[in-house]
Amino acid sequence: MDTRPIVVDFDDFYNVNNGLDLLFRIKSEVKGFKCTLFTVLGRCSLGFIKTIHNIDWIEMACHGRIHNHKECQYWDLEEIKYYISHYDNIYSDYIQKIFKPPYWLGNDIIYKELDKNGFIIAENLVNGKKRPDCKYVYTLQDKRYKYIHGHIQDGCGNGLKEQFTYYCSLKGEFKFISELRSEL
Ligand SMILES: [Zn+2]
Repeated sequence: MDTRPIVVDFDDFYNVNNGLDLLFRIKSEVKGFKCTLFTVLGRCSLGFIKTIHNIDWIEMACHGRIHNHKECQYWDLEEIKYYISHYDNIYSDYIQKIFKPPYWLGNDIIYKELDKNGFIIAENLVNGKKRPDCKYVYTLQDKRYKYIHGHIQDGCGNGLKEQFTYYCSLKGEFKFISELRSEL
């Protein structure tokens, strides 16, 4: 039996793409369910973020600014510094210090700066991208955990609606990505 902790994350969470009806249905089916939602900060109102923060089985993490195609791939030092200061000033009480660039596409400059500022960097090594050494890296390939990765919306094959039955069948001990920090 697979007794590894289950770590569930869904990408592309924001005000009008929230999947909350389905998430609440999964929660009612699955004992101890919790998940990390990669949140597009520039597409959320602060009121929405504060409301979601009050749900104790959801944690939010950073997923770029507006989710333009490849937006973070082209960010320079000034851009990522601005993003981090914006995070520190507005979001740090509500959103975890975890960052995943849209489409898993970052660059060395932003990863180094995020690392310097204590962010966990979410990475998918299947993409084959070289990444500088960073202290906290969460990868889908880490075999210590059972990683379940999906999207709020359908279209990638792992959306809440597309894989609803599978998500409802999960059993085990669930962990937020933030709870892995000391082990990464
Ligand atoms: Zn995304």
